[in-house]
Amino acid sequence: MKAIYPGSFDPITYGHVDIIERASEVFDELVIVIMQNDDKHSLFTEEERAEMCRKSTAHIKNVSVMIGNGLTVDFAKKIGATILVRGIRAVTDYEYEMQLATANMALNGDIHTVFLVAQPQFSFLSSSTAKTIAKNKGDLRFFVPDCVAEELVKKYEKGE
Ligand code: ADP
Repeated sequence: MKAIYPGSFDPITYGHVDIIERASEVFDELVIVIMQNDDKHSLFTEEERAEMCRKSTAHIKNVSVMIGNGLTVDFAKKIGATILVRGIRAVTDYEYEMQLATANMALNGDIHTVFLVAQPQFSFLSSSTAKTIAKNKGDLRFFVPDCVAEELVKKYEKGE
């Protein structure tokens, strides 16, 4: 079965990587999809985010990375995926994720959302936390892969 893991990944964190590692064991093929979203101001460009996702998941064979646009369910259909993976960290994620999953179900009943629960050591972790730490020159070791930490440091050195 082919699954997609859509999101912003601005940037990818160890929490995302953990979900990807586990989803890649459940599904034959997993495509990480950086969804274009003009409403959200992103720190990294889509290409930069895709490249960091590629580097951070290079050790997993059945994982690939794409940039997607339009509705997530339409994109899934276009590439022949029937599963949409999302991660849940805490109850705070639950309401938003339920809303999204229910809307997607109404849009296309053939695409199924599957939730994976974050491991406790990653449940506090978000891309925003990683950005705040980087901005304040904190230690990023426990939050993001080394290649991502380097890019975060570079971005904030440039004063963005
Ligand atoms: P979006 O803007 O679509 O929420 P994100 O990149 O923030 O994109 O997140 C993509 C998915 O990964 C979401 O389902 C989110 O709940 C999940 N996620 C984010 N961080 C973690 C984490 N630390 N552990 C598990 N799941 C996570």
